[in-house]
This record gives sequence, C-alpha cells and structure tokens, in this order.
Amino acid sequence: DDGLAGKVAVITGGASGIGRALAAAYARAGVTSVLGYHPGDPHDPAAAVADVEAAGGRALAVAADVTDPRAVQNLVETATGEFGRLDIAVANAGILRRAPLAEMTDERWDDMLNVDLTGVLRLLRSAAGAMREGGALVAVSSIAGGVYGWGDHAHYAAAKAGVLGLIRSLGVELAPRGIRANAVIPGLIETPQSLDEENSLGPAGLAAAGGGIPAGRVGRADEVARAIRFLTSDDASYITGQHLVVDGGLTVR
Ligand code: NAD
Repeated sequence: DDGLAGKVAVITGGASGIGRALAAAYARAGVTSVLGYHPGDPHDPAAAVADVEAAGGRALAVAADVTDPRAVQNLVETATGEFGRLDIAVANAGILRRAPLAEMTDERWDDMLNVDLTGVLRLLRSAAGAMREGGALVAVSSIAGGVYGWGDHAHYAAAKAGVLGLIRSLGVELAPRGIRANAVIPGLIETPQSLDEENSLGPAGLAAAGGGIPAGRVGRADEVARAIRFLTSDDASYITGQHLVVDGGLTVR
C-alpha cells in the first residue's frame, strides 16, 4: 500500500506541464489535488481539473501567484478548508528565461529568484504550517541547478540550486514532525516551458536533443509526475532531504 488514497495535495503551477500531469497521476492514486495556477497563465486550469475528473478523481483550481505570500497561504487554506486536511505539497511552479551574463540585470535576477526559489519557500512554509499528521513536500529543481551547466541561464541555475539547499535543510528540520522534504531534478522534458523557443530549446531543439540522451528521447511530463508521486508516497517513507534525477541518463553518460 503506497498510503496515498484519501490524501490531499496542493500543487503550484498546476495548469500545465508537470503540474497538470501530476494532478492526473494523483487522481489515479486516490489523491485529491488543489491546483494553484498563475492568473496570467494562458493555459486553462479547467483542462487540468477535467483530466483529474476523467481519471475518476477530485481537484479544485485556485488562482495563486507564488510571488504573493498571501495567495499561497490562501491556496493552502483552501485545501484544509475544503477537504479538511493537507498531506502533500509540491512546489512545481517555475519560470525559465534566457539571459546572458551581460544582460543579467539585478531586476532579471531578482524576478527569477522571486518565482523559482522564494516561491518554493512560500509554498513549503505555508504547507508545513498546515500539516497536522506529518506529510510530504517536494520541490521541482532542474539538472541546471544540480549537475549540468547551462549557459545564458545563470539566474535559473542559481534558483534551482538554491532549491536543493532548501530541501536538504528542511529534510533535517522537519523530520521530527514526520514531514519529509525531497526534490526532483528533471532533465529535458517536453512541456510548454521547454517548447518555448525564446527562452528554452523550442520544438526543433527538443527533437534534436533527444539523440544525445541515452534513453534516445526527451522525457514526458508524466514521467516526472510519477517520480514525484513516488517521493510523496509511503513507498518513500524513509527518504528525506534527497533529490531524484529524472533525465533518461543525460547527466550520467
Ligand atoms: P510549464 O511552463 O508548463 O509549468 C510551469 C507552471 O508554473 C505554469 O503552469 C506556470 O503558469 C506556472 N507559474 C509560472 N510563474 C508562476 C507564478 N509566479 N505563480 C504561480 N505559478 C506560476 O513547464 P514545466 O516544465 O511543467 O515546469 C514545471 C517545473 O519543472 C518548473 O519549476 C520548471 O522549472 C521545472 N523543470 C522543467 C524542465 C523541463 O524540461 N520542462 C526541466 C527541469 C525543470
């Protein structure tokens, strides 16, 4: 028994990509999801909720910009208010921007860290505060923040590396309360973020990159989602403060 059935999760950035795939994976495991979405996101969170309902699950979408601590607190309070408990929080929301060093103004740097690092802190802080019977936290980092250099993305890399330090610290700090904290490190995954030509590889770049990955292809959002689901299940009951690389062998070749 993976212990997931009947649990309640909050997921930031739940309208698209990995977050949307995670809500569907949770639905198949009997987990109710409260999906935070960016109010300016072109992706309709109703589509993510429809995926969950098609899988026989339950989900609610709530506007929650992770740069606003009150909105994040409200997201968590919606989960406990509507469903009576909170067991899982997944800090998945993130942005990716291309910025060579000469164009890396303080403003660009701060905007990135505000979403991709402090945004993670905001969710995990609110969620841990609401957990009454232990729980599981996961943050989505990146190979760029752990084990893989990526030029023109230093702010993204720094934020994602910061997430790993945050998770190690919380793993230790929250263990006495029965709360585990782990990170996933996705490699190249086909999602709206990586399909964005301006800031990431774009469709042609992604297709070309597949050949350089030992698995012979880029990853799918649901492959990261299932790794997150594992880390938040009782199958990972003795795993905390760790990160799990999900990259088809890209960084060990
Ligand atoms: P995505 O763009 O589909 O998902 C990111 C989500 O975050 C979107 O729904 C977006 O609206 C949301 N978001 C952005 N800013 C926000 C804010 N201020 N408040 C709330 N939500 C906000 O792409 P994805 O690939 O599914 O990204 C999910 C996570 O995975 C991100 O943290 C990303 O950095 C990370 N990641 C992705 C890849 C990849 O190859 N796709 C690789 C490594 C890490």
